[in-house]
Amino acid sequence: MLHTTYIELSAKALQNNIAYMRDQLSNGARYSMVIKGNAYGHGIETIIPVAERFGVDHFSVFSVAEARRAFRVVSKGSEVMILGWIDKDELEWAIQNNISFYVFTFDRLSAACRVARRLKKRARIHLEMETGMHRTGFSEKEMEKMFRYVSRYSAHFTIEGICTHYAGAESINNYTRIRKQIASFNENVRRAKSEGIVPRYRHTACSAAVLRYPETVMDLVRVGIANYGFWPSDELRMNHFIDSEKKGVAPSDQLIRVLSWKSTVMSVNHVGAGEYISYGTTYLTNRDTTIATVPVGYGYGYTRTLSNMGHVLLHGKRVRVVGTVNMNMLVIDVTDVKRPRIGDEVVLIGTQGDLDISVSSFGDMTNSLNYELLARLPSHIPRKVVD
Ligand SMILES: *Cc1c(COP(=O)(O)O)cnc(C)c1O
Repeated sequence: MLHTTYIELSAKALQNNIAYMRDQLSNGARYSMVIKGNAYGHGIETIIPVAERFGVDHFSVFSVAEARRAFRVVSKGSEVMILGWIDKDELEWAIQNNISFYVFTFDRLSAACRVARRLKKRARIHLEMETGMHRTGFSEKEMEKMFRYVSRYSAHFTIEGICTHYAGAESINNYTRIRKQIASFNENVRRAKSEGIVPRYRHTACSAAVLRYPETVMDLVRVGIANYGFWPSDELRMNHFIDSEKKGVAPSDQLIRVLSWKSTVMSVNHVGAGEYISYGTTYLTNRDTTIATVPVGYGYGYTRTLSNMGHVLLHGKRVRVVGTVNMNMLVIDVTDVKRPRIGDEVVLIGTQGDLDISVSSFGDMTNSLNYELLARLPSHIPRKVVD
């Protein structure tokens, strides 16, 4: 093995999750798989071909850099949409290659118009509406001017979408705010229509909105986290369980984690009682101890806050991380494991024997969400697809 650690992606799990989310769409809306953040840590180049096998043909990225990576691997029929960053210098590439992109400022709108005119090719744009999240989008005040501009230069645009994003559809705390956003969005769509602007897609829903606010599904959905087998929040997971019970279906987790993270034992050593392990004095042995090192550390996204706190699986047993997590290594206490050997498989996230270590068990412990932990997995860890 050339690398010290690797990530396995389960094709079956991905297939299951896509099917589950598609089942929630009653009206045949287009399914865009969000692959920003290096496909939530799963690897853009690795995940796209697998998703395409299961019928996904629309991918959402954050930046033009991610769009270029996606564009290199997507099949001919698939589309790429940029939700966030695109520099003016890159507009030509995007327009030339039929990449659609969000527009939320006049600056970008007029730049797109100029480039499209020069290339004699329409820019495929998504007009983003500010409906209450207060992040990006045209505000109420700008709307009329924006619609006028788009109508006037309509020869240079294809209105691929009118869209917005909700400020936390995964939590009941935001219920009123989300309701207001939905109403405001629908009003904006009506206004656009009265100005003669009818988009190919109205789109607003992320994973949580698909699951909890069916009316937000409209013509296209942008599903991220659920593809990878995670509920957007514990609250939505609980809702799902309750809904299943009501329908008389045995409650089971319908989303299955796609990713496993593995490494191997690098060395095994014996340490007497009363010795400190690794840097400093954070862990003192109180018995004769067998320790093993694993060549993974915070330089790989295994956070330092898991020092003396994390667990990994070895020989189907849960064993503790002892001492501080180093940049490239961590130490585990393997005293209770029978004959640990160099080269044995170590599971950081995933299943071994009957046991499982979830991302959220790790996430809760370090107070970071699934989203954050996944997005922090470095792109230099090799990804491979298993069945
Ligand atoms: C990240 C993102 C999504 C997907 O959100 P999930 O909660 O992962 O489903 C959808 N739309 C936009 C604009 C996003 O930034």
